[in-house]
Amino acid sequence: MTEESPALYVVPTPLGNLGDITQRALDVLRQVSWVAAEDTRHTAPLLKHYGVSARLLAAHEHNEEAAAQQIVARLNDGESVALVSDAGTPAVSDPGARLVARVRQAGFRVVPLPGPCAAVTALSASGLSEPHFLFYGFLPAKARQREDALRELAGLPCALVFYEAPHRILETVESLATVLGGARTLVIARELTKLFETIHACLLGEALAWLQEDANRQRGEFVLLISGALESGDDLEGERVLQLLLAEGLPVSQAARLAHGITGAGKNAMYELALSLRKGAAT
Ligand code: SAM
Repeated sequence: MTEESPALYVVPTPLGNLGDITQRALDVLRQVSWVAAEDTRHTAPLLKHYGVSARLLAAHEHNEEAAAQQIVARLNDGESVALVSDAGTPAVSDPGARLVARVRQAGFRVVPLPGPCAAVTALSASGLSEPHFLFYGFLPAKARQREDALRELAGLPCALVFYEAPHRILETVESLATVLGGARTLVIARELTKLFETIHACLLGEALAWLQEDANRQRGEFVLLISGALESGDDLEGERVLQLLLAEGLPVSQAARLAHGITGAGKNAMYELALSLRKGAAT
């Protein structure tokens, strides 16, 4: 942080574990005159915990323009400002982007600090090996729009990363399985860095039952990560054929081999799905 040139610092804050703040973030927070926060009531105790005495100003999605003007005025007075959200990186499924744009338009420096972000944290422990991922953030709240949005993503070979809140986790997982099919891998990353952190990988077709098995699994904050479209790009067709073959009484391995041969859907995925479908039918 340079003394002479005022700047807006974009500062990520912990997702839950207060130890997850960088030395540089602490240095910046302790040196700036102002901290622009998504929710000042949420951020005040955090700043107190870190011994930060900067003054707070509110910068949330409903006052971003006004907050930008306030921040530009502070910068014009030669004072630096740090921007924080409730948790993680500002402007990632959080307010901040419009404010940053205004500050840059006004000719001031915007300095990003690296730090916590739920999507990247979850991805690092997901075990998904796709070389690319698409970060989507929150899907639409209404089922129809959500499923329309998912249809647009269904054929992409990259991993898909979504954010979700506890009150919508079941319906979103249901939509994911309906549109993307049951054969892809879903990694449910819940309460990252917190006491009840859970990272569970399963087939999309098994996920709803796993969540419903224990109400605690539906609590907290979620990142949902899904493996990319299978080789044929037609996962649903593979699943449909597999179901028909199993219904005819074929053994799991033979049904999986045939579904793979007929549709081009991944052999291992078909085998895993056939196992889970047969298990589901037996219970
Ligand atoms: N800006 C934040 C970031 O960098 O990740 C995201 C903010 S967004 C409003 C909040 C969403 O992030 C939650 O609904 C959840 O999907 C995800 N999230 C935040 N903290 C999390 C955590 N500890 N574990 C899992 N997901 C989390």
